[in-house]
Amino acid sequence: MSRKVRVRFAPSPTGALHIGGVRTALFNYLFAQQHKGDFIIRIEDTDQTRFVAGAEQYIMDALAWCGINPVESPMQGGAFAPYRQSERKAMYAQYALQLVESGHAYYAFDTANELEAMRLRLKSAGVASPQYNSITRMQMKNSITLPADEVKRRLEQGEDYVIRIKMPRREEVRFKDMIRDWVSVSTDTLDDKVLLKSDGMPTYHLANIVDDYLMQITHVIRGEEWLPSAPTHVLLYRFLGWEKEMPEFAHLPLILKPDGNGKLSKRDGAAFNMPVFPLDWKGESEFFAGFKEWGFLPEAVVNFLALLGWNSGTNQEIYSMAELIEHFDIGKVNKAGARFDFEKAKWFNQQYLRHKPDSEIAAFLQSKLAQVGKEASLATLEPIAALLKERAVFMNDFWEDGQFFFFAPEGYDPDLVAKKWNADAQKGLETFLSALKTEAVEWKAEPLKAFLQEKLKAANIGLGKVMLPLRLALTGLGAGPDLMQVLEILGKEEACQRLEKALEKLAV
Ligand code: GLU
Repeated sequence: MSRKVRVRFAPSPTGALHIGGVRTALFNYLFAQQHKGDFIIRIEDTDQTRFVAGAEQYIMDALAWCGINPVESPMQGGAFAPYRQSERKAMYAQYALQLVESGHAYYAFDTANELEAMRLRLKSAGVASPQYNSITRMQMKNSITLPADEVKRRLEQGEDYVIRIKMPRREEVRFKDMIRDWVSVSTDTLDDKVLLKSDGMPTYHLANIVDDYLMQITHVIRGEEWLPSAPTHVLLYRFLGWEKEMPEFAHLPLILKPDGNGKLSKRDGAAFNMPVFPLDWKGESEFFAGFKEWGFLPEAVVNFLALLGWNSGTNQEIYSMAELIEHFDIGKVNKAGARFDFEKAKWFNQQYLRHKPDSEIAAFLQSKLAQVGKEASLATLEPIAALLKERAVFMNDFWEDGQFFFFAPEGYDPDLVAKKWNADAQKGLETFLSALKTEAVEWKAEPLKAFLQEKLKAANIGLGKVMLPLRLALTGLGAGPDLMQVLEILGKEEACQRLEKALEKLAV
């Protein structure tokens, strides 16, 4: 019987979760959902020196914002609790000892100074990246080189030690990656990684394997930066006798800078004026802007991230979460790095904003107005939302682009006034205004347009002379949405007042 699919997102709480981490979580989530499996979150906090307060909460908040919800996590618990490795500390040592007993790991007593001396010795002998490995271990202080009674004595005296994996020599480690197909690595390139530290804490490698095994993880989907660790992990499964339960691996492609030159880094947000984190992060000495606070909708961010490294092979670009769950295919994820195209992210946001109900945007405008002590009904705000949709890229654009609806212009673009406000324009607007006041016209864009044209024609003034001055009078600006719609939304009283005021202030 095949096992139930169980995948995990296993971040280390060392700071804000980079947008690439959100993509990893998303791909795990999609994979779990489409296989009716479980998506869980495990916090890998064994490296206490890199622990950052608030990071775990940030991770949970960011994923919740995106709608990437786990069925088990440190917050909600689950059948395999606890889900924080620091709380599982007592579980790991037995597996390290099992490896020592079966000859696949050993104690090492080298001090920091001795390790450094080894590094320097090898460097001066021309070794580019010195390693503690199957050759160099023979010159170091460990349970392979020291006599058994000395090892025993050191352990009994409570001397500091670590447990290292004993990397075999001249072996090929082969495993199948769902994205890269067969990966083959010679053990001669791998070092004797520390598995258990002197404080009894496991390192990432041991804890990761033990937990994936105990938590019955079936597929490990993670970033490409973990590919070099995978052969060591494969060996650990083998050495622990868990080969049959070993998960399948998928290493996701890197996310590249917008210009394609190198890996996207957390500093690129500032460098390219774009967010590279899901939410704002205020660290002790650093601030990173978030997609959310930039004005992105979570569904747009999810859609954008899903296509970073994956495509369905069709022309479809807009996918809801449900559609992603249906169509996503881990086997079709690219090996090559995916360029982080921020313009494309904005395009997605624009598409999703266009499909947002007017009522929702109206509610947003209403709350913005309330913040500045103004009131407006949803019914009056909905047409504004509908009109501004075509141009809005971010939610806040509705507020910014809509300012002139809420506040009468205090001034008028001076360059345009100089260029376009003249006696003809003035006369045209006066004619229009007085006709509006004295004659009946249905207050709708189309009839208003016909009315304006008719009055100008009668006064022998070209429409072209009046349109921009009319826009200036109503909005103070030289460009914006359809002017007749603006007129309709402003309403007769407000429109007439604005016209009067402009004619007074700009009189030639
Ligand atoms: N704790 C690792 C990280 O921070 C997890 C890597 C993995 O998924 O195995 O990304």
